[in-house]
Amino acid sequence: MDKRVRVRFAPSPTGGLHLGGVRTALFNYLFAKKHQGDFLLRIEDTDQSRFVHGAEEYIFETLRWCGIEPDESAVHGGPHGPYRQSERKSSYRQYAEQLVRAGKAYYAFELPEELETMRGRFKTADNPSPQYDHRIRMNMRNSCSLTLEETERLLDDDAPHVIRIKMPENETVVISDLIRGEVSFHTGLIDDKVLLKADGMPTYHLAVVVDDFFMKISHAFRGEEWLPSAPVHVLLWRYLFGEENMPQWAHLPLILKPDGNGKLSKRDGDRLGFPVFAMDWKDPNSGETIKGFRERGFLPEAFINMLALLGWNDGTGKEIFSLNELIDAFSMERVHKAGAKFDYEKAKWFNHEWIRQMPVSAYKDVVKEIFVTNGVGINDEARFEKILSLVKDRCTLLNDFYDESRFFFEPPTQWDIESVKPKWNPDKKNFFESFVSQVESISSFDPVSIESNFKQLAGEKNIKPGELQLPFRIMLVGEKKGPPVFEIAGLLGKTDTINRIRHFLDAISV
Ligand code: GLU
Repeated sequence: MDKRVRVRFAPSPTGGLHLGGVRTALFNYLFAKKHQGDFLLRIEDTDQSRFVHGAEEYIFETLRWCGIEPDESAVHGGPHGPYRQSERKSSYRQYAEQLVRAGKAYYAFELPEELETMRGRFKTADNPSPQYDHRIRMNMRNSCSLTLEETERLLDDDAPHVIRIKMPENETVVISDLIRGEVSFHTGLIDDKVLLKADGMPTYHLAVVVDDFFMKISHAFRGEEWLPSAPVHVLLWRYLFGEENMPQWAHLPLILKPDGNGKLSKRDGDRLGFPVFAMDWKDPNSGETIKGFRERGFLPEAFINMLALLGWNDGTGKEIFSLNELIDAFSMERVHKAGAKFDYEKAKWFNHEWIRQMPVSAYKDVVKEIFVTNGVGINDEARFEKILSLVKDRCTLLNDFYDESRFFFEPPTQWDIESVKPKWNPDKKNFFESFVSQVESISSFDPVSIESNFKQLAGEKNIKPGELQLPFRIMLVGEKKGPPVFEIAGLLGKTDTINRIRHFLDAISV
């Protein structure tokens, strides 16, 4: 690469971050780190009407949780700030005016209601929803249709106006995209987009080009939904800063609904019961909370691993990647063009794999919080870690740790008696009574000695140990689940184990 790699993630602070947004951030981050470049976060808040309180903080927290911190941002600082477009407002007008002077843009004086009237007036069978473009431009009130004097008078009178790009009527703009190759656009089909709004704020189209130039962005990677805007951006580059300085583009594939039918939306999450946002997002206006992967019990390592594989692979079939491995293996050329179907079962598989592979010490504190939220305080950290290690293979989400191991902290008050009763008899009761008196006197109460005592006594009493293990488990756990039963007894300790056996024997009426 000849120039320093500088990429940006440029979200608008309009709500929580959807999976697709985090994946865009991740691919930018991976590319930057792979090429020893810089990863910037730019807040694109030019549309003040869509500003949502808390959204910016949410974006920063999400990236922090994912472990993909920007090198430059409104929070991290950097030499190319400000990193919020609203704070750069004064820098954009001059470029819009430069374009007007060069004949590449024009002033347009319609008020919003006049635009509505226009749509009605120019509607025809082959143009059912007319847009503001070369076909109707000369019929509207703008500096192309008005005389110079009329235009100047309106400007002197401070008449409300916007600046629009004058899209060429008949040109082909070709974009070279790292994922899609060359993509051609016919300019006659594109509307004269607003560049500067009546309130003096730029639109996204102008701001993105000006900022990418001043922030020395070398590569612009963003979602496929921005591909139709790319020709407008290319023209702005050509007119303002020179196409040779333009970043290299890549438009990332959409993330699709599980059935492949259209783009995954936050509504699909509600409908199908899985998270679509990175973290819980509480909409400050509606008060509604949209579930996030973090609160569902995903590890950030698993979340980013799963996201990376939505639309990319390294070609070897390998699926489990740490962030560093992703940095090594990532290349934009291996990102697919086609949309990537989201599969929640697969997402959970990634989490399960990461839970199994990581040492419990890495996520113990998060799991502890889950216990505390459920009213179970943890005092003995070492024992807690042992318990987590014992059940981790059975957990898919971090919240599963609570369900899988709460019995270690709260003795059962109900038992799955139905599973025991059919084969329960006085001999078995007698076995457990003898077992209790036997273990009371043993000094070491570890899984191995518990098991050998248990099996030896079963032999003496002529009962198959296999027939005794299920009732033993029900006594300790309450139901037919959990890790190996002698391990459970060992971790419960002698007193608790004996109490649980006694309690059960009192409760079962045979
Ligand atoms: N502000 C745009 C967004 O919200 C950024 C598009 C781009 O990266 O150019 O997705």
